Amino acid sequence: MVFINCIMQVNGLKDRAQDLRKSFIDSLEEDIRDFLINEAELHTYDDLTKVNPVTPSTVLKCLQARYSAKVFYTHAGCTLVALNPFQPIPDLYSLDVMREYHSAPQPQEFKPHIFIVAEEAYRNVQGQVEPMNQSLVYSGESGAGKTWTSRCLMKYYATVAASSQKCQDTVEKIERRVLGSNPIMEAFGNACTLRNSNSSRFGKYIQLQLNGSQLLVGASVQTFLLEKTRVAFQAPNERNFHIFYQNSVFFILPTVEAMINLGIDESKRTQIFRILAGLLQLGNVDFRPALEEAQTCFLQKTADLLQVPLDELQSCLTVRTLRAGKQNVLKLCSQSECSVRRDCLAKVIYAQLFDWLVTFINNSMCADRSMWCNFIGLLDVYGFECFLLNNLEQLCINYANEKLQQHFVAHYLKAQQEEYVTEGLQWSFIRYQDNQGCLDLIEGSPSSIFSLLNEECRLNRASDAKQFCVRLQKELSHNASISWDKFSKQPHFTVAHYADKVSYQIEGMMEKNKDPVPPELISLLQNSQDSLLHSLFADGDHESEGLRGHSKVVTVISKFRNSLESLMKILHSTTPHYTRCIKPNPDCRPLTFKREEVITQLEACGIVETINISAAGFPIRIPYGNFLQRYGLITNTRLTVQMNQSNSPEMSNQAVLGSAVEDVLNVVLKRRASNSTLSPDDNNNMV
Ligand code: ATP
Ligand code: MG
Repeated sequence: MVFINCIMQVNGLKDRAQDLRKSFIDSLEEDIRDFLINEAELHTYDDLTKVNPVTPSTVLKCLQARYSAKVFYTHAGCTLVALNPFQPIPDLYSLDVMREYHSAPQPQEFKPHIFIVAEEAYRNVQGQVEPMNQSLVYSGESGAGKTWTSRCLMKYYATVAASSQKCQDTVEKIERRVLGSNPIMEAFGNACTLRNSNSSRFGKYIQLQLNGSQLLVGASVQTFLLEKTRVAFQAPNERNFHIFYQNSVFFILPTVEAMINLGIDESKRTQIFRILAGLLQLGNVDFRPALEEAQTCFLQKTADLLQVPLDELQSCLTVRTLRAGKQNVLKLCSQSECSVRRDCLAKVIYAQLFDWLVTFINNSMCADRSMWCNFIGLLDVYGFECFLLNNLEQLCINYANEKLQQHFVAHYLKAQQEEYVTEGLQWSFIRYQDNQGCLDLIEGSPSSIFSLLNEECRLNRASDAKQFCVRLQKELSHNASISWDKFSKQPHFTVAHYADKVSYQIEGMMEKNKDPVPPELISLLQNSQDSLLHSLFADGDHESEGLRGHSKVVTVISKFRNSLESLMKILHSTTPHYTRCIKPNPDCRPLTFKREEVITQLEACGIVETINISAAGFPIRIPYGNFLQRYGLITNTRLTVQMNQSNSPEMSNQAVLGSAVEDVLNVVLKRRASNSTLSPDDNNNMV
């Protein structure tokens, strides 16, 4: 310490010396506190709020101890932490285990498990006072286990909410359809990436519809931002969507079976696979002059499979139509422009096909509105992303994560503290990271990254990354969440997200936001002889460069923002249950726990703040009725309350119940004060 002081003061860096001294003392204090915790017992802590003191390193130690003991779920106050074992754990998700959690009077007394969250949501749907829709939100980085969790939960509900005898036929069908939607959506929307061999390349919110008897009668699914660029381009050692590799008889079987269950008939299936084969052929088309012969061969195959005339396909890819006054002028495209058009064609077909599948799945699973009362929503969205190079896709994904984090903060942290204040409970306020500033930067008005990007795209001028960077600096530098690295040669901006700082490159961002589709490509597809392909583009609501006026360009950002806003509206109207999925090592190796990897994720989701607030607060809230059912025997008020309940209106019931609870608590407190214990005799005497 003296050494640090000397050096810093000699250099005149007093402030820095103070900072260092403070962080040194902090870390020393933390070490001493860690030393005091009983390491041998750490793995037995089912809830991280029991770890004392709660620091990032004690929480980490506890999770590591549990992971070594092969315990993968731990409560963290109001949330659940799920560590990915990266290997199948026998009997962790079996039907028997599901039934055990479902039939338990108090499942929360069992070992932490995703089924506790599932069951809590299931019971909440009925509601003590009034039925309430529920949402289960799982977050975490790529490979953390979100989709796995989603599948487990769907199986859970398909099991516990299945009808026993009545309408066996239809209900069984519904369960099969709901579960069957997974292999189809994963085949078309998931891919092998460097981080996860089954990475979801789209976001998904599935609503499981329950009738008045709590039975599963249908489901609907909403998807977000499919990474369609993957059809045309894959990073080194990554792959295209799974469906393109499922040509082996064995891999395709579950997908085909699910398609049959959902009612996609043989002729539609043939059309789907023919279109996919067409995309594969299209991907082989190369515009280098030396390869002209091969190009014609692939073009011919593409035209056959997509059922469009060869000459039209060729001219769409190689010639662009410009408007000069009232006349159309044809201009030959450069080699790179041809490639862009080829990729654009593949992307637009794949994206439309994906949407068609989602609509089909919805039509097949969704129950009539009169059939269901409430829903449980399962949200599986891509986790926070920070790569070496980040662009519009990452900005959208990280924006979605900021929105979810804000929802979490508002729901648990802010709301809980505000409730304590209004109820007059003694409470020392805990600081948590509020990400409103960052959201203002991204989506706020009048000036934000989104508004400026959209404006730039609507101006319809050649995009200039450097110029746009200067504009961002001029308009947004007052916001503390944005910065620029002076030494970087590429135009970029850096956003301080709640999870981490991410640098976004501006080059290509405007183009991605416009996502233009040449009108010639659309009319080519509209004239396809393939009825499915034709129908994907027939309704004319697909925007292309030529069809939309510049003033109302619907950008990628606008579309994404709208769908996210409608999702947030639904989330706000439900009771959320958050699960934080953690990836214990970057290599997806079984039972391997890397401390640095885990601590970064814990920090990113603010788990320590969550635990602190839950631990310092009142994590257990028992409704008056339940409390009296369990502890009412202590006083003789229980019977009176029940009698009153049936005669009085709703409001006075609450008051009556409240005072009955108070009576029970007073008895307990009095006994405590006089150091006596409650004996069974006491109860007998009183009742
Ligand atoms: P992405 O954001 O890339 O879609 P993800 O969070 O959805 O990632 P998953 O695909 O659910 O990640 O999980 C990655 C892999 O980890 C799974 O394919 C599976 O092998 C393994 N895994 C996840 N959870 C569990 C679990 N509870 N038990 C066993 N293996 C698991
Ligand atoms: Mg996933």
